[in-house]
Amino acid sequence: MIILTLNAGSSSLKFNLIDTADETALADGIAERIGLSDGFIRWTIQGEKGRVDQDMKDHKDALKTIMDELRKTALKDRDVTAVGHRVAHGGPHFGDPMLVTPKVLQEIEELAALAPLHNPANALGIKTAMEIFPGKPQVAVFDTAFHNSIPDYAYTYGLPKELCAKYEIRRYGFHGTSHRYVAERTALLLAKPLDMLKIITCHLGNGSSITAVNKGKSVDTSMGLTPLEGVIMGTRCGSVDAGAIITLMEKENLDAKGINALLNKQSGLLGISGVSSDLRDIEESRASNDSSRLTFETLCYGIVKYIGAYAAAMDGVDVITFTAGIGENSNSTRAWVCNRLRNLLGIELNEAVNNARSKEDRIISTPSSRTAVCVIPTNEELMIARYTAKLV
Ligand code: ADP
Repeated sequence: MIILTLNAGSSSLKFNLIDTADETALADGIAERIGLSDGFIRWTIQGEKGRVDQDMKDHKDALKTIMDELRKTALKDRDVTAVGHRVAHGGPHFGDPMLVTPKVLQEIEELAALAPLHNPANALGIKTAMEIFPGKPQVAVFDTAFHNSIPDYAYTYGLPKELCAKYEIRRYGFHGTSHRYVAERTALLLAKPLDMLKIITCHLGNGSSITAVNKGKSVDTSMGLTPLEGVIMGTRCGSVDAGAIITLMEKENLDAKGINALLNKQSGLLGISGVSSDLRDIEESRASNDSSRLTFETLCYGIVKYIGAYAAAMDGVDVITFTAGIGENSNSTRAWVCNRLRNLLGIELNEAVNNARSKEDRIISTPSSRTAVCVIPTNEELMIARYTAKLV
């Protein structure tokens, strides 16, 4: 089966074309600045990079252009069997991936109240694909789904119960497809059954979340009602005292929109450092710039605290797995975190393996390390393609 996976943002459309027979990626890419000037699409097809600069009036325009390119190159005489969509928020009811029906689509749109930045764009991506591929199965895979197993005492906030029920306010968690994928790969890498392992998965990218995975099930995760909670991120604040938010709203005269922009776009690595939201820039400047040093250490210390908390939550931890842009590439972040946990968790890092550049799944701790440490490149698209193929 050839599965097209789509991840639609408000002005972007990420795509992957996957042959499920051997799980190879035939193509991947992104259309950016949809509906704006200076639009472009870039892709990699069979190892060859390509780019077209072209304004796209809407997502349909973008997907048409993408499909024209894929039909000429990656697909040739073959056709897409089904389309799998990444959907950010499944709310309290959506768990397993779903075949999209008009009712499912309507519910995804209604969940915009919980994910105003993501769900409307995801729904738009589904509607677009329905127009371009009429009659072909569309499958929604929810980023929150893996976390449905979190117990009530771990997803409940200390807010009035009636209001939480009325507005469905609770911890949902995100990056679920990634956490599940790397947890499964970790078990394979260690050659141990998943249901025997206590794993802490650290998905650290522009957005970051850390999850406690006990016997293959998510039992706690750092993101909450929205993807704002948890460790500091590129431009998102992570967990802060709610009182600080009230103070900022009062003193800076900010309304909901204003505080939302401040917490989502001007905070995190960018906000603390004043340098950049990209960890590479922070790492490069931290020896000479104290704000960068502080930013790096605040990030790493935050990760350490979550790992300690989740080791307590699971009454132990067998393995810590790093993934996503920072987790896969930043050896200095992994080293800082692991060295800080050396006594508590008995971690011994294999420095040579940690420092070596690799795109492979790998164990970066020594054989005698009490807690194992792994790096697993995430592959959310492959998971979405697998789920889609299974439902079709
Ligand atoms: P997203 O959450 O948008 O999918 P990624 O998972 O691709 O993001 O992560 C992007 C981030 O990964 C970048 O902003 C950068 O901070 C970090 N990153 C990527 N490569 C490196 C590297 N070699 N060293 C340190 N950080 C890196």
